[in-house]
Amino acid sequence: MASVGVILLGLDRFKVINESVGHAVGDRLLNAVGVRLANCLRPGDTVARFGGDEFGIILDPIADADEARRIAERIGSELRTPFPMSGREWFISASMGIALGQPGRATPDEMLREAEIAMVRAKAESSGRHILFEPSMSDHKIERIDLENDLRRAIGRDQLRLHYQPLVDLATDRIVGFEALVRWQHPTRGLVPPIDFIPLAEETGIIVPLGRWVLETACRQAVVWNDLRPDGPRLSMSVNLSAREFGQPDLIDQVDRLLIETGMDPTTLELEITESVMMDQSEVGVRALSRLRDMGVRVVLDDFGTGYSSLAYLKHLPLDTIKIDRSFVAGLDGDADRSIVGAVIALAHGLRIDVVAEGIETEAQFHLLREMGCDVGQGYLFARPLPAAEASRLLAPSRSSGATRAHVLAPAPGHPRERALADQLRPPSSRSMNRNRLMKSR
Ligand code: C2E
Ligand code: CA
Ligand code: CA
Repeated sequence: MASVGVILLGLDRFKVINESVGHAVGDRLLNAVGVRLANCLRPGDTVARFGGDEFGIILDPIADADEARRIAERIGSELRTPFPMSGREWFISASMGIALGQPGRATPDEMLREAEIAMVRAKAESSGRHILFEPSMSDHKIERIDLENDLRRAIGRDQLRLHYQPLVDLATDRIVGFEALVRWQHPTRGLVPPIDFIPLAEETGIIVPLGRWVLETACRQAVVWNDLRPDGPRLSMSVNLSAREFGQPDLIDQVDRLLIETGMDPTTLELEITESVMMDQSEVGVRALSRLRDMGVRVVLDDFGTGYSSLAYLKHLPLDTIKIDRSFVAGLDGDADRSIVGAVIALAHGLRIDVVAEGIETEAQFHLLREMGCDVGQGYLFARPLPAAEASRLLAPSRSSGATRAHVLAPAPGHPRERALADQLRPPSSRSMNRNRLMKSR
């Protein structure tokens, strides 16, 4: 059945060309693209520039999806031939979304919107592709909008929760702090893990009020725990900061105010920033980290090894701790990862930076890391992230001799797996000077 079709075409990375060589060259390139597109079309088809680097093509008539795909392929290959201009050759690729409609069924506006959804999908998958719109894509979009609206209200509706995962001194088996990890108690979706909403929060800016809530809640909890054990060593509280939170111009004032309001000892607060966020920082960002440290707050480089992994950078960054990513801990039974982890620990200690290993799941990993001199560990072997009440039960009354891991974990009924693990534990080994730096510093 003959129908009509729309292709929405977006040039990939065209902004880069415009920004690097100027709009005059960019405009000439766009004109040349328009000419090539017109060459690919049939007599009834129309092409129009939609502003920016997007073109809309109406295919009238179109027999079926295969025919539309063939035209999109022809356009793709036509654009792949480089464009000679201003004395050099320009390589261009385009992502295309295709929507088909029966005349009288979908309105032109609807078809364009569908083509746009497909084009966005095409761009996300890889450049230079074309994708045919399917109704399930639009369901996905609606779901995302629902999720975004729900998330905006989550704070006011008291649906956010913090879980706390203990950080354990590997030499003494004592809990030295907790990492606060956010969850969303959604009325119909259940407990939503951060991976399912932090990226959306970051993209939409919701992360700013959300992060403020996390920071305040975590600080208040740390004060409660430390007040309950006035004689014990101070527990630290680690809070994750995403790129956008870190980029707030008033972050330092916010943290300062919060520390005063909650009465939290600044030296017990640790802010975790991932390697890629930290490496992207301008001078201003690095200065912000230094100012936080001047206040006494500790700065942690999270997920170390997943980003640029530049060891040389370590000495230039104002850092107190690095957290070795759990992918390295998981790979510890292989020689390569073991050497990397060993080298990272040695280098960090040389720079007076503490090392935390995350994702410790097995006894073997625990023993290896302890032998390598890693200061602190975190992982399911010790405990999963827990609600505050359950995490409180891990905090045995402070003992001068130092609690064993079994002490740390014993008062947690309802966690048979961790209990079983705890039961297998041996008493802690003797302390080494190096491994105790982290405890002494608190
Ligand atoms: P992350 O900062 O690397 O946090 C550690 C993640 O590893 C947590 O996942 C934790 O539950 C998990 N984990 C801990 N021990 C083990 C283990 O032994 N094995 C394995 N396989 N996993 C372990 P979670 O809670 O799902 O958090 C995921 C990520 O979400 C965090 O990664 C962090 O990047 C982000 N996130 C969580 N809470 C916040 C927050 O309040 N603000 C921001 N900006 N990001 C957050
Ligand atoms: Ca973290
Ligand atoms: Ca991490």
